[in-house]
Amino acid sequence: MRECSRCGGHVQRSFRYCPWCASPQRLKLVEFFRPHALIAGDRAKALRVSRYLGPRKEQRHVRFSVWSETEERAEAEAAVSLDEHEAERLAYFLRHPERNPAASRGLRSIFRDLPTYFAQAPRD
Ligand SMILES: [Zn+2]
Repeated sequence: MRECSRCGGHVQRSFRYCPWCASPQRLKLVEFFRPHALIAGDRAKALRVSRYLGPRKEQRHVRFSVWSETEERAEAEAAVSLDEHEAERLAYFLRHPERNPAASRGLRSIFRDLPTYFAQAPRD
């Protein structure tokens, strides 16, 4: 048991959120996801999703990384972080792939809008 830093309630160490006030008990949550069993080229890979829960907006994001495993080691092949809005959009897409096709964006559109996106991003 430990104390919640927000409300002081007793929380089991394995809990990610305080059962009394719902405050996150960790600033980073990590889950690994297995590859599709029928896609042979992905068998030695895994998807790692890290969710950062910092108190400030610029600290909160979701980082996706593709890991591959050899006999010697595991290493990240690529990674990208999404802000909360894009992570929510991804979650919506996964939950409801049949909905909102007008809002889907192509890769060219994403890259074309990046300068504006970064110019509007909050600074420290
Ligand atoms: Zn609490």
